[in-house]
Amino acid sequence: MNETAKRARAAIDLAAVRSNVRALRDRAPGAELMAVVKSDGYGHGAVRCGRAAREAGAAWLGTALPEEAFALRAAGDTGRLMCWLWTPGGPWRRAVEEAIDVSVSGLWALREVADAARACGRAARVQLKIDTGLGRNGCQPADWAELTAAARAAEAEGVLAVTGVWSHFACADEPGHPSIAAQLAEFRRALAVADAAGLRPEVRHIANTPALLTLPEAHFDLVRAGIGIYGVSPSPELGAPEDFGLRPVMTLEASLASVKRVPGGHGVSYGHLYTTPGETTLALVPLGYADGIPRHASGTGPVLVAGKWRTVAGRVAMDQFVVDLGGDRAEAGEQAVLFGPGDRGEPSAEDWARAAGTIGYEIVTRIGSRVPRVYVDGAAPAGGGGGDGAARTGGGA
Ligand SMILES: *Cc1c(COP(=O)(O)O)cnc(C)c1O
Repeated sequence: MNETAKRARAAIDLAAVRSNVRALRDRAPGAELMAVVKSDGYGHGAVRCGRAAREAGAAWLGTALPEEAFALRAAGDTGRLMCWLWTPGGPWRRAVEEAIDVSVSGLWALREVADAARACGRAARVQLKIDTGLGRNGCQPADWAELTAAARAAEAEGVLAVTGVWSHFACADEPGHPSIAAQLAEFRRALAVADAAGLRPEVRHIANTPALLTLPEAHFDLVRAGIGIYGVSPSPELGAPEDFGLRPVMTLEASLASVKRVPGGHGVSYGHLYTTPGETTLALVPLGYADGIPRHASGTGPVLVAGKWRTVAGRVAMDQFVVDLGGDRAEAGEQAVLFGPGDRGEPSAEDWARAAGTIGYEIVTRIGSRVPRVYVDGAAPAGGGGGDGAARTGGGA
């Protein structure tokens, strides 16, 4: 382990990414898979995880921001790539030049991408987004006929190709929720309108991980899997990762920075929310909210130390938190495992989500850039750029 990873590290298992992609593809055999690697691969490292996903057959990568897509291209990715969160004046021209599929939800965006395509003399790849009920981005159904007609006109002019029509679910993690059927019906209407306008998209897609797992009729031509490829369950109610053949990719651990005996009645961490019930051993874990450990997990977050589950004692501070080891012994430098796949009996990201009142997505994604990502391949260190201890934003990571 190199020195930067001695304090703490997020081990990222690329073999698990590949096996998760295969498991997800098996569940959607009629569709291609887009590995969603936005927000630096949900905190796991977009470049390395995207590459592993490609190796396991992901035909597409997806990001929210154009800058995230550019970073993948800069790292050598040449496959189909889409990004969907645009604001006026965005870097359309670069996206066109780099053959990135861009999402368009309204006429202003269609105009900007068409202008960029004319300026660089290259057809843009445009995917039109319909808001089927999420109420977030996407064209309202009332404006859809106008948008599809305008897109078809631009296509006839040769400035763009409409490569996709797509949408996003609001409640796919709640099977049976009435919005699911309503959104599917609206999506089918939107596809019919696009067809009537003369558009022949390559891919129609609406499924995220929970829809991929529970709703085969939503698979269409492409499924967009984010959280599933990282082996985290989209919702504990749907099941644990292993119920879907998924394996958690990230293991977050730290070396104990201090272990000491203290008397009973000793206040612990800011505000003294915890007081030792008797003479005991306190261990200091050098990770805090600056590293993405939720302060909401003060007094509740689970940690495996010296073979036992312990709970964060008192407040999570910016850089550190304390666990009470009871009568147990431990040494500075021993490992505290916050979450991982569970092989050593450690908690899961879902356990942290429960402790902090959030979702597993947030737990892994918020792990900060101060925590080095260490890429492994199953038990072995991963080959390729940005290996042991490389910061995820650094060389090749
Ligand atoms: C993040 C995102 C996804 C992936 O969702 P998961 O639930 O993580 O699979 C898919 N589509 C869009 C538009 C997204 O923003």
